[in-house]
Parts: sequence; C-alpha cells; structure tokens
Amino acid sequence: MTALSPLLFSLVNSSKMNSFDVIIIGAGASGLMCALTAAQRGKKVLVLEHEKKAGKKILISGGGKCNFTNYDVSADNYLSQNPHFCKSALSRFNQYDFIALIEKYHIAYEERQFGQLFCIDSAKQILDMLLTECYLNKVNILLNMSISNIEKKDESFSIKTSDNHFNCHSLVIASGGISIPKMGATDFGYQIAKQFQHKIVRTDPGLVPFILPDKLLSQTKQLSGTALNATVSCNDKIFNDNLLFTHQGLSGPVILQISNYWHHNDTVNINLLPLDNLSDSLQQAKHKNPEQYLKSFLHHKTGLTKKLIHVWLSDNELDKKLKHLNEQNISDLHQRFHSWQVIPAKTSGFRIAEVTRGGVDTQDISSKTFMSNKINNLFFIGEVLDVTGWLGGYNFQWAWSSGFCAGKHV
Ligand SMILES: Cc1cc2nc3c(=O)[nH]c(=O)nc-3n(C[C@H](O)[C@H](O)[C@H](O)COP(=O)(O)OP(=O)(O)OC[C@H]3O[C@@H](n4cnc5c(N)ncnc54)[C@H](O)[C@@H]3O)c2cc1C
Repeated sequence: MTALSPLLFSLVNSSKMNSFDVIIIGAGASGLMCALTAAQRGKKVLVLEHEKKAGKKILISGGGKCNFTNYDVSADNYLSQNPHFCKSALSRFNQYDFIALIEKYHIAYEERQFGQLFCIDSAKQILDMLLTECYLNKVNILLNMSISNIEKKDESFSIKTSDNHFNCHSLVIASGGISIPKMGATDFGYQIAKQFQHKIVRTDPGLVPFILPDKLLSQTKQLSGTALNATVSCNDKIFNDNLLFTHQGLSGPVILQISNYWHHNDTVNINLLPLDNLSDSLQQAKHKNPEQYLKSFLHHKTGLTKKLIHVWLSDNELDKKLKHLNEQNISDLHQRFHSWQVIPAKTSGFRIAEVTRGGVDTQDISSKTFMSNKINNLFFIGEVLDVTGWLGGYNFQWAWSSGFCAGKHV
C-alpha cells in the first residue's frame, strides 16, 4: 500500500457533528497513532491541533529522515520517576509492530549504528502513512484550533475552541512536551493535568547541547566544528559516540545522550581517547622513539587534530620531546585526555532541546490503558508524560506504544 497524498479530511460541521467518542488534543506522533488505532475499532474520533500542519516534529526529526524506532528497545532506554511504567506499553506495541506498519507502506528504511532505524528517503513518508491510516479510518482532523476551555460534565468532556464547541466520551491529551516552542510545543498538557489534580514532575530540557562557562569556552571556542569519538559519563550513566565542539560549548550525540542525566552543577567526565591507554602508549613510545615530539606523537598515534592538541597542551609541553617526559608528566597527560572534567554552565534550553524531561506524573496514570486514575476517561500519552527516551528512536517508539495502548481503550 502507498500513502495517499495530498490528504483530505472531513471537515467537522459544528452544528451537526460536535459529538465524538474520542477527542485527541495534538496531531503529533502519539496523537495520530492513538487516533488511527481507536478509529480502527469503529470509534468516532476527532483530533484537534493548534498548528496549521500535523506532525511537524515528525517532519524535522532525524535530520529529515526520522529515526522512527530502534531494534533494541527496553525500559533501560527511558528515564522516569517510575522506571517500570513504560514496560507494559513497550511490550504491547513494540518496535516490530511499528516496523510491520512501515513495511505495509513499502517505506524504505535502514539500520544505522546502535540499532537505530531511519527512513532512507524522507520523514514525510512516516507522517503520510499515519495520516493515510487516519483518513482510511475516517478520523477527523481539525488544524488551527485554539482550545479555550475543557470541562468534564457528568460522563462527557466539553471542549471549547475559539469558534466551536465539541463533546466527547474520552479525552486524550497528546500535546507533547515543551521543547522547541517554534514547532508548536506548549505547556497545554501540563495545564490540563493540573486542572484535573494531576502532579507534574519538574521539567527540564533533554537531549540538548551544553553551554560551557566563559573561561573554559575561551579555550575550546577555537575548536568549534571539531568532532571526535568520546566516552562521556555523569551520574553513573556512560555513553560512547561522537562529540562536537561548538561556538557555545559541546554538542553531538554523546553530549545529547548524557544531557538527559545531567543536573545543574553536576560534573561531566569526558574521555577524549576511549580506545587508547595514553599512559601505556607514552611509556612505550618514550623508549622506542625518544626524539619524537609529544605533539607529533599525539597527532599520529591518537588521530586527535593538531588544533585540539594545541589547546590541550601547555606551551612548554608543545616543545617537549618524549624523552623529557617524567612519570608525573605522563600521568598528568593521561588524566587530561582520558578524564576531562567539565561542569557545564547550563544547557541550550527548551529552544533547541529535542525532548522534555519530566512531565505528567505517571503515578496517577494506568500503564496499561493510559487513563487517569483520578478522572474517568481522561488519557495522557506520549511526551507529555514523565517518560523520556534516549536518542536513537526511543522517543518515537514511546509515542507509538503509548498512543496504540490508549487507542485500544478509549
Ligand atoms: C528536532 C527534533 C528531532 C527529533 N528527532 C527524533 C528522532 O529522530 N527520533 C525520535 O525518536 N524522536 C525524535 N524527536 C523527539 C520526538 O519528536 C518526540 O518525542 C515525539 O514527537 C513526541 O510525540 P508526541 O505525540 O508526544 O508530541 P508531538 O509529536 O510534539 O505532538 C504534539 C502535538 O500537539 C500539538 N499541540 C501542542 N499544544 C497544543 C494545544 N494547546 N492545542 C492543540 N494542539 C497542541 C503540537 O503542535 C503537536 O502537533 C525529535 C524531536 C525534535 C524536536
């Protein structure tokens, strides 16, 4: 099957069709998955989206290729105050269930490192697939909708928009986190959660670059654009991947990963030579090639750029030959390259963070149905919840899994 494009949706006539089985707020990854799943069960579904386009984050994800899932998904790839919460949904709609959908639509995909799956052509294919499934199952999607009020009256929810009024039996909040407001992100989900007495776990930017303090930045700024493989650890978590020096600090996949575990004032430990043992190789080289300059040894043995070596060595060390290194010098160098200790000033913030850490507290949400334990037939799915995935397709998998499970129960 191929995706229909452009897609047309039935427009809701306010006077005749304002009652629905299910209304979903947010036409993003989790909202569309929930909509198509509920509609496949014969439910009359309306999705309300305040942007003029559905699925904006899907379109820009994975550099336009959407890292839609990962071959290796488990609860270990997620952060939450309740680390068990995500298990049930991830097993009931897993990565292979989503891959089956992709394959049904003949969307070409490829595996990159660490089991990450990306579209070969375009992220738009994923959005088109979801919209096509919604269209075929008669989901109504209204864009440009500004919701002004939500109330629960007896057994139904009443939703007011700027110029319309809708009712539904089940209300699903799929409005995402607050990262990248430019893409339509709002704190709407948290406001509704609070209105219905749900707690919010403190929110912070996740999968986000670090800004370094001025003093450190004055040294590293000149390396802006330099990338290298590094192992980075913080708060007992460790990742290995590429690190990128930027004009503001540090970025690259390994930094985004560790940012999920970083809190203000925490030290980040960075090993710039994860595959070497500098102390051993310096000892050997000192005997084998005593006349070699330290800077030239570092460049040729480790592959570090000359620019980085210039920043990392003192003026005195730049002129040193290997034969002049004593035990203390070797130990200092080992420490400096294998264990660079950094205390970032802050992160780059929600403006560019890929995800929001924290969110609606899962302790009052059913991990099977995603229904609120406080309010009957109110559901929360996707990133609005206090469940945050690693970089690597885990956040979309959470959106698909939670959207599917709620779609089966609304
Ligand atoms: C640049 C970038 C790249 C990313 N790449 C990847 C990737 O490759 N792989 C991966 O797994 N994850 C990726 N992510 C994360 C992923 O996009 C999100 O985790 C995922 O989209 C969350 O799905 P969601 O349905 O919960 O929220 P969203 O997809 O954000 O959808 C929420 C929807 O609700 C709408 N909304 C918000 N407020 C209101 C309101 N008041 N009224 C009506 N509608 C509202 C929004 O406009 C949006 O359409 C990326 C994120 C970013 C920002």
